[in-house]
Amino acid sequence: MHKRLKGKRDGERAGSLSAVHRIGFELLKKIHSVDSAIIPLHLLEICLSLAEIYGGLFLTAELIDALLGASFERAARLAGGLLLLNLCFGVAIHLVKRRFRGMKNKIWLIFYIWLREKAFSLDYETMEDPKVAEKILFSERTSDMYGGLGVLLYQYCNIFRSILHVLLSISMVVYLCLSKPVRAEGILGVLASPLASLLLFAAVLVGMAVLSFRVFCRFAQKQKEIFDAHTGVENKLGYFLMQIYGNPKAAKIIRIYGMEEMVLENTRINQEKSMAYFRRMCEIERQEGDANKLVSSFFTVASYLLAAAKVVTGAVTVGAFTRYAGALNQFGNACFTIISSHGELRKISTYMGDFLEFLHTESIHEKGSIPVEKRDDGEYELAFENVSFHYPGKEELVLKDVNCKLRIRGKLAVVGRNGAGKTTFIKLLCRLYEPTQGRITLNGIDIRKYDEEEYRRLFGVVFQDFKLFAFPVWENITAGFERRDERIREALRQADAEATVAKMPQGLDTFLYKNVEDGVEISGGEAQKLALARALYKDAPVVILDEPTAALDPKAEAEIYAHFNKMVEGRTSIYISHRMSSCRFCDDIIVFEDGRIVERGSHEALFAAGGSYARMWNAQARYYEG
Ligand code: ADP
Repeated sequence: MHKRLKGKRDGERAGSLSAVHRIGFELLKKIHSVDSAIIPLHLLEICLSLAEIYGGLFLTAELIDALLGASFERAARLAGGLLLLNLCFGVAIHLVKRRFRGMKNKIWLIFYIWLREKAFSLDYETMEDPKVAEKILFSERTSDMYGGLGVLLYQYCNIFRSILHVLLSISMVVYLCLSKPVRAEGILGVLASPLASLLLFAAVLVGMAVLSFRVFCRFAQKQKEIFDAHTGVENKLGYFLMQIYGNPKAAKIIRIYGMEEMVLENTRINQEKSMAYFRRMCEIERQEGDANKLVSSFFTVASYLLAAAKVVTGAVTVGAFTRYAGALNQFGNACFTIISSHGELRKISTYMGDFLEFLHTESIHEKGSIPVEKRDDGEYELAFENVSFHYPGKEELVLKDVNCKLRIRGKLAVVGRNGAGKTTFIKLLCRLYEPTQGRITLNGIDIRKYDEEEYRRLFGVVFQDFKLFAFPVWENITAGFERRDERIREALRQADAEATVAKMPQGLDTFLYKNVEDGVEISGGEAQKLALARALYKDAPVVILDEPTAALDPKAEAEIYAHFNKMVEGRTSIYISHRMSSCRFCDDIIVFEDGRIVERGSHEALFAAGGSYARMWNAQARYYEG
């Protein structure tokens, strides 16, 4: 067994700075893996725009000094330089931005592809775990609502841009602090001295950092509490919006039972809860924004006072003051952006953390590596050895000490009442679950050791809850294997589905259902026959039919029985049913009762033995005859 949902670090508090950036950097790495140009291009754009801003500040300050000193020729040159600077950088930034415009869509799309790729790579049992399903639904819905990888990249760019602003403006202010006053009188003179102004500036910076961190921690905690309390609501809402409103089968039931009001009311209640959550989140963001503005304006005021003292004491010119004022303004804004972007990242990391956890989810079971021997003679011997099984999270055993060998190329029927464990027996055989105890073997080797994909190729199965897709008929039948029309027609013929397809407007190319294209609707019986054709097309050595006639009319059922021998010719077949009469044509019958095999033999032998099988047969015969 493996640890399933990995991703969170031990002892790391969700929403803490380290947790936020661990998740953030891991996601940035994933973005980089999609297109290695995305992040460098964003960084280039940031550097260009900073060069434009600070170059502009420098030239403007020089221009003011030139005008104040009446050096008009120099002022004209500086004005020309300013214009050229804006033009060149403006064009360069535009070109870079144009390059990464399409990339945003790419990273938006890749998020959904990653989710699905990962989902497909997990074994069935892991995917059935409600916690895993919840992680997929939750990260998908939340990233739809609050922005996913694109917003994360945007916020990191904001932070990077702002850090550069802070470093540049700090170095400019340090330079300002170092300038010596010409007229050093009174309190202003003391304030404007290099040492005093440096100390003052450092004190303001430290004070601001401490205050900002406290604000961050306080609001992180609040946001986390609200977010945690909210998870279930989004999942319920997602279920209503995606699984109920968009599902034609549900639409039918809702109309028949008049459930409209109930469904709408449930949606309304969850929507209100969701809206309340949004309002509370926005309120927290507003409060955090206000607190941060207060902190940064404290810094801006202190720094302006410092710069003013430098001008009044003659340490710097008026032109230089404008440069510093500009830098200080950038500093204040940048600090505010760093803090607010961190707030956004914190929010993103909460649900994208779930996404990463899902990507780190490991399958419970090994995929195995031994290749399955390809045998034209179909000599595959399958055996259950002392197999017991309970479903994950349940304690009650559904299969109890099952022992049996499946006869090669034989026609086996598995019968028993509903809930006796027949389908579970098949699911274990197909390796959708692993036995809780005991083992299943193929030619004497534990099936877990075989390569999973190769092992599954041995089976063509029609489950009770078979599923067809809104694809063309041929894709439903070939199910990923190469299209060979003659073979498709043969499978359709064997499954008695030829006439169904013949009346479709585009034959094999006709789409099923109306979800994707304007396809055709088919009856339950027709769908079951197509599912049967899909199982036969796979040309697997073992064909399994789980209650295959449940949705068929008696005539179609009789035809399937008549065809059955031909259909499974040369293969091992397993036929599951709770209808005793439907397995008379099988040469070997296993009877399940309450998770155990209670009898096995031919119809005649079991009937003569007068046990469970005979009792069920008689009871059903009376029912069907009656
Ligand atoms: P049968 O095919 O004979 O009608 P099943 O094998 O489908 O019976 O079911 C046997 C028992 O296992 C039933 O009690 C059923 O409720 C339970 N069961 C089936 N599928 C699951 C599942 N995915 N999780 C938990 N219990 C299940």
